[in-house]
Amino acid sequence: MVTHPVLVIGAGVAGLTAAVELADSGVQTVLIERNSTVGGNALDLYKAFPTDDCFYCFEGNRWRPGIRKCFYRSALLDQPNLTLKINTTLKEVTGEPGKFKVVLSIGPRYVDPVKCIMCGICMEHSKAFSLISPQCQPQAVVYNPDKADEGVARAVEECPTKAIDIEAQPSEETINVSDIIVATGYHEMQPVNVDEYGYGRIPNVITQLELARMLDPNGITGGVLTRPSDGERVKSVLMIQCVGSRDEKYYPYCSKICCIFALKHANIIALERENVSVNIVYMDIRTYDRYERYYREAREAGVNFIRGRVQRVKPSENGGIEAIVYDSLLNRYLKFDTDLFVLSSALEAPKGSEEIIKALGLRESNGFVAPADLETEENVVVGDHVYACGTALGPAEVPESVTQARAVVSKILQSRM
Ligand SMILES: Cc1cc2nc3c(=O)[nH]c(=O)nc-3n(C[C@H](O)[C@H](O)[C@H](O)COP(=O)(O)OP(=O)(O)OC[C@H]3O[C@@H](n4cnc5c(N)ncnc54)[C@H](O)[C@@H]3O)c2cc1C
Ligand code: SF4
Ligand code: SF4
Repeated sequence: MVTHPVLVIGAGVAGLTAAVELADSGVQTVLIERNSTVGGNALDLYKAFPTDDCFYCFEGNRWRPGIRKCFYRSALLDQPNLTLKINTTLKEVTGEPGKFKVVLSIGPRYVDPVKCIMCGICMEHSKAFSLISPQCQPQAVVYNPDKADEGVARAVEECPTKAIDIEAQPSEETINVSDIIVATGYHEMQPVNVDEYGYGRIPNVITQLELARMLDPNGITGGVLTRPSDGERVKSVLMIQCVGSRDEKYYPYCSKICCIFALKHANIIALERENVSVNIVYMDIRTYDRYERYYREAREAGVNFIRGRVQRVKPSENGGIEAIVYDSLLNRYLKFDTDLFVLSSALEAPKGSEEIIKALGLRESNGFVAPADLETEENVVVGDHVYACGTALGPAEVPESVTQARAVVSKILQSRM
């Protein structure tokens, strides 16, 4: 009888779903996350399609009733079959399918999440301590040694629960596991190399993820759209689609969901921010399945669509951005003076995927994990006793990621019957 736990790599929506549901089914599960907090990219997204719920609440994406924020508080941390290891990555895998021996690298634990009561005293003394988000789990501040300043010693001294250990060292742990689930997710490409758009050079050029953080009332600007260059209120936004996707110079594939999140953001701005105009420059608008409604709503809300390409951008005299756009339907060049230029950047495999794919002997597709057999429908089975779910398999939305995670859980449970 199999008694080894299951290892889940990555605590985004997909990994969390798989880990919690396995644990709830009585399977010992170890969930590792390389960051200091769980949630992955979903933590930064504000409102979520298809239900337009706030992303802090997963109920709208078919989470179990009553989970909402408490998901992070109870289902995850109070589940005895589940061990969460933050700041942890996979170092080595040996053994055989069903009986893997894995070595985990565990980063230094500067703040003990069990002891931290989030009183905030350390953050008052030093910029090296911060709260990743108000709903982060584990509920603890994080310490960044690269930002250490003279206030750190006082923070350590005044921490009421003695939760801080700035001398903490990295460690390793070896465990035996029966199955491995890869849920390492995606990364939004930083389009610094796409010269024509000026990202990284011109401050008012941002990505869609950066826009999502700006739209979030709990985010950096409290939900107010302001120009990063001078803090002026934004009156116009120009979005450009397919940045780095469908482009042989970067990624040949379509990132599948960037049309939908661009429309989501356009609708939020057009409907919820007064007197802000939105233009979207596109090659094709791809809104599969139920998402066509976002396109219709955008049209009704007055979002302007231009089929074509942005030829060049430069800072404008009024502090915004001047963009020259070729309109391929009208066969003419248009000039825009806009406050924010938002790039719908490609979703790429995260750093470290290549090593995991290699260590587990998996197939790769455009940097993401590929299904074991592309001919079958079994897209979550990627090896013998090795599975993948969510955006580790390529761009996907949350409902698809959750469904795949559940498919993996069901396969593992079946294999143990
Ligand atoms: C701008 C934008 C808006 C979006 N809006 C929506 C929306 O409204 N609705 C919707 O359904 N979807 C939306 N999405 C897509 C959504 O973000 C994804 O579907 C979802 O976050 C995928 O979850 P995941 O668990 O697969 O991956 P991730 O969220 O990427 O999580 C992966 C986790 O694995 C961890 N990890 C990675 N590598 C390692 C490693 N080697 N070791 C340990 N841990 C590792 C990461 O730190 C991360 O925590 C949007 C995406 C973008 C870019
Ligand atoms: S002072 Fe200590 S308990 Fe308070 S937030 Fe900082 S680490 Fe946590
Ligand atoms: S989803 Fe839309 S923006 Fe994204 S790559 Fe595909 S066509 Fe381009």
